[in-house]
Amino acid sequence: MTQFSNQDISIYNSLSGKKEPFKPIVEGAIGMYVCGPTVYSNVHLGNVRTFMSFDMIFRYFKHLGYKVRYVRNITDAGHLENDADEGEDRIAKKARIEQLEPMEVVQMYTVDFHNILNTFNFLPPSIEPTATGHIIEQIEHIKQLIEKGFAYEVNGSVYFDVLEYNTTHDYGVLSGRNIEDLVHNTRALDGQSDKKNPQDFALWKKAEPQHIMRWPSPWGVGFPGWHLECTAMSTKYLGEKFDIHGGGMDLKFPHHECEIAQAKACHNHNPVNYWMHANMLTLNGQKMAKSTGNNILPAEILSGKTDKLSKGFLPSVVRFFMMQAHYRSVLDFSNEALLASEKGYKKLMDAVKTLQSINITKPSNEFDVSSWKQRCYDAMNDDFNTPILVAELFSAVKYINQIKDGKNSIDKANFDILERTMDDFIFDVLGLKAATDSPSSDKLSDAVQILINLRNEARAQKNFTLSDQIRNELLAVGIQLKDGKEGTSFSTD
Ligand code: AMP
Ligand code: ZN
Repeated sequence: MTQFSNQDISIYNSLSGKKEPFKPIVEGAIGMYVCGPTVYSNVHLGNVRTFMSFDMIFRYFKHLGYKVRYVRNITDAGHLENDADEGEDRIAKKARIEQLEPMEVVQMYTVDFHNILNTFNFLPPSIEPTATGHIIEQIEHIKQLIEKGFAYEVNGSVYFDVLEYNTTHDYGVLSGRNIEDLVHNTRALDGQSDKKNPQDFALWKKAEPQHIMRWPSPWGVGFPGWHLECTAMSTKYLGEKFDIHGGGMDLKFPHHECEIAQAKACHNHNPVNYWMHANMLTLNGQKMAKSTGNNILPAEILSGKTDKLSKGFLPSVVRFFMMQAHYRSVLDFSNEALLASEKGYKKLMDAVKTLQSINITKPSNEFDVSSWKQRCYDAMNDDFNTPILVAELFSAVKYINQIKDGKNSIDKANFDILERTMDDFIFDVLGLKAATDSPSSDKLSDAVQILINLRNEARAQKNFTLSDQIRNELLAVGIQLKDGKEGTSFSTD
C-alpha cells in the first residue's frame, strides 16, 4: 500500500472554479458525501456514470491508504417532480400509478440500484443513510434556521428566506448565479403564494390530505424538502465541515447551492472544502435523462436487447468506456464507442495475462518502469485524470508485448513493480474485472461461436430444422442469438 503522504493530489473545486491542492481536514482521513439516487425508477446509465466517477475517486483514496468515510444517501422522500417545491413526490406518484405502498417502491428500486452497482463492481459506501430515516435531524435543522431568522413558517410549510440569508451571506456562491437575476427571473408559479419571495425554497412542506408520505412536525403533518435531507445527513455523519461533496453537474443548482445556504445559515461557515461535480453521459448528443426517455438502462447494455446496440457488453467494458473519459468531460454513449472500448479492454486484459509468461532477463534500456509508475500516480493526482492513466497503462501494454516478442527486456525488480502497478491501477483503482470473472467469458464466447458457425453452415445448406434447433436450444439455456448486418452475435441473461 502506497502512503498517502507521498502523493500531492489536486482537485478541481467547483466552488473556486480551479484546481486546488487537496488537504484533508484531518491528516490521513477523508469525509466524502455524494448525493444518492431518488429511488422511484431504475437507474439509467447516466446515473451510473456519476456514481462510478465517485467510486473511482473513493477507490483511489483507499488505494493511497486514506481512511475514507464515504456517505452516499438514498433519497426516498421529498424529491418532487421537476425538482420543484410544488407537485407530486416522485416516489408517491410511482406508488399511486403502480398501486403500491411508497416504501415498496423505495425497496424495489433500492434493491435494483444495489444490484446494478454490484454488477459494475462498485465498492459499497461506508454509510448509506435514507432521507426517511433522518426526519428528526431535518426537523431539528429547520428549528435552528427559524431561530436564527433564516426560515419562516406559513400555513404549515417552512421556507428558507433567500433574501434574508443573502444580506449576510452569499447565495449563488457555487453556481455563480446572481441574486438580482434570480429575483427577476423567478416567477411565482401557481400555488407558491405561501412564499415571501419566489426564490425561497421549501424546508418542510405541509402534506395535503392526498399526500401519503407524511410525518408529524412542530408545524403540522408534512414532509421534508429535498435539499434539506442532504444537509441533515452529511452533517450528522461527517460533521459541520467536511472534505468533499460530490454529485452530478446538474445538481449544482439549486440542490447544492441550497445545501450550502442551509448549512452556512446554521453554522456560519462553508460546510464543504471541495465541491466536485461529475459531468453528464449523453446519448445522441443529449443528456441521458429519465424524463425525456433519452436513456439506456444497464440491463439493456449487458443483454444487448436494445436497438441502440449491435450486441451485449461486459460490465467491465462499460466501466472501461467510462474510465477512458475524464469525470469532468461530457461523454457520449454509442455502439461504436463501446465496440472500441471492448477492443481496448481486451488488449489490456491480454497484456495482464501475457505478463505472467514473459521472460525475466535484464533491465530495459528504453522503458523506465519506476518513472512510468510515478506517471500513473501523477495522472490520478491531477484531478483523477483516468484517460491519462489509461494512456499510461497502454504504454505498459506496448512494453509487455515488446518483451513477449523478444524486442525488449525486464529484470525481476522492475517486473515486480510493473506487475504490482498494473494490478493496482487496473483492478483496484479503475475497478475493472478480468474477463474470465464473467459468465460471458472468452471460453463461453468461443463455444457459442462454434455453434453460430454450425448454424450458418446449416442455413447455407437450407437445413433450417437444424439451424432453428441450434438457435432455440441456445435460447432455452439463456443465450440469445441476434442476426445483424455484421453477422450473428449473442447475449446472455
Ligand atoms: P437522481 O436520482 O435523479 O437524483 O440522479 C442521481 C444522480 O445521477 C445525480 O447525481 C445526477 O446528477 C446524476 N445524473 C443524472 N443524469 C445524468 C447523466 N445523464 N449523466 C451523468 N449523471 C447523471
Ligand atoms: Zn443531495
